[in-house]
Amino acid sequence: MLQVAVVGSGPSGVYTAQGLVQQGQVPEVRVDVLDRLPCPYGLVRYGVAPDHEKIKSLQNNLRTVLEHERVRFLGGVRVGPDTAGLPAARLRELYHAVVYCVGAATDRHLGVPGEELPGSWSATEFVSWYSAHPDSLSDGFVVGARAAVVIGVGNVAVDVTRMLARGAAELSPTDMPQAALAALAASPVREIQMVGRRGPSQARFTTKELRELGGLPDTQVVVDPAELALDPAYADPSALPAAQRRNVEVLRGWAENPHPSGTRRIRLRFFLRPVEFLPDAGRVGAVRFERTLPDGRGGVTGTGQFEDIEAQLVLRSVGYRGVPLEGLPFDTSLGTVPHLAGRVLRDGSVSPGEYVAGWIKRGPTGVIGTNRPCAKETVTSLLEDAPTLARRDVPPDPLAALRAEGLHPVEWEGWQAIERAEAALGASLGRHVVKLPDWQSLMEAVQAQGAP
Ligand code: NAP
Repeated sequence: MLQVAVVGSGPSGVYTAQGLVQQGQVPEVRVDVLDRLPCPYGLVRYGVAPDHEKIKSLQNNLRTVLEHERVRFLGGVRVGPDTAGLPAARLRELYHAVVYCVGAATDRHLGVPGEELPGSWSATEFVSWYSAHPDSLSDGFVVGARAAVVIGVGNVAVDVTRMLARGAAELSPTDMPQAALAALAASPVREIQMVGRRGPSQARFTTKELRELGGLPDTQVVVDPAELALDPAYADPSALPAAQRRNVEVLRGWAENPHPSGTRRIRLRFFLRPVEFLPDAGRVGAVRFERTLPDGRGGVTGTGQFEDIEAQLVLRSVGYRGVPLEGLPFDTSLGTVPHLAGRVLRDGSVSPGEYVAGWIKRGPTGVIGTNRPCAKETVTSLLEDAPTLARRDVPPDPLAALRAEGLHPVEWEGWQAIERAEAALGASLGRHVVKLPDWQSLMEAVQAQGAP
């Protein structure tokens, strides 16, 4: 029998667990999926935008895996050196193998003056807030803001732009927490500029997500054809890869056939790189951008011309970044754990029994489905190593060992109690399911499990 711990219950962790229990090669594999939160599903619960209900419904597939007879969900377990945590070295003693699927937990920084002014936030802070992440301490994002700037043109930028433009009628059927719903429904933000430092043919968003902006009720999408035309591929996108060509075609359509005006306006801007955040009365009042031009090699060069864009709210959406985990090697330049086909490398050599999958393995790229082949590669490596791994003695039940050390994981029944509490909260508010937004209410729900 092989006992495996998977650290992280997002898509890469769950696909890893699925790969391990749904293979015929090593008949008896048991998997404990650990998460520091009492709730499973990682970014599917705490990252996918609440109005993307179809993508969110992937939780049903992930649930099937976590309910498999040889898989256990153990929430509320923080792997790390702090007093309440479980050190990585101890985890290794409890299991034949550990697969780290911890994602990329923080945001990248721009490194420009004024970035930390009040009113300037990372997109991940904003996403955590409207997704009810229990560590989210911030609110008041939209209070007093007429104009917003979103820096970056990836899918997260599109998500936060869309959420800023949505009204109460569209947000209320989602599971977003009540306070975030009330704040966004009353948002005074009327103008949102989403700004890329390179051209439209180099934008990272996918066409489906881009198109969605054009279908938002009462919202005008504006694109300046002269700005698009700075991109040599704009005049003739036929040589571009299909995904980029479709993006350019959608943008061209909006530039040539302007939307009717709406209460809110989204402007898509290109060839502008942020150089400074400008204060106004102690908080951000504008962002100064330098006009750039293509350098012919896929990059851009500055022109020395500047444009200040007014914004009382700035969301920096320039990508996620992996965080080092105490006890694991880390490549600081890439923000990932060095590995060979999923096997963790320490000083260039394979570290027996330690594996990675997902964003901490390959960096924060790709869509949810990209984690399937990524997890499969890691599972294949682990199963190849299984005969050696299984020779090591481990405690017969790691959960009993964890309990003996004073850790009390939230098991599946605890999570189901949270689900029931969220359904009850939704019913009491005349909504569908409404997420519990803080640690206290989550843990109260867990403790009430089994109560009538
Ligand atoms: P991303 O796709 O890497 O986009 C980051 C954006 O930030 C790019 O436009 C990038 O421009 C820009 N950027 C980076 N550094 C910058 C700087 N110093 N100044 C100005 N701009 C800068 O990251 P993401 O949007 O966070 O998405 C992460 C992953 O999650 C992606 O794979 C995405 O597809 C996925 N995701 C998918 C969905 C969905 O499928 N609906 C939703 C959300 C996220 P350059 O290209 O010039 O570097």
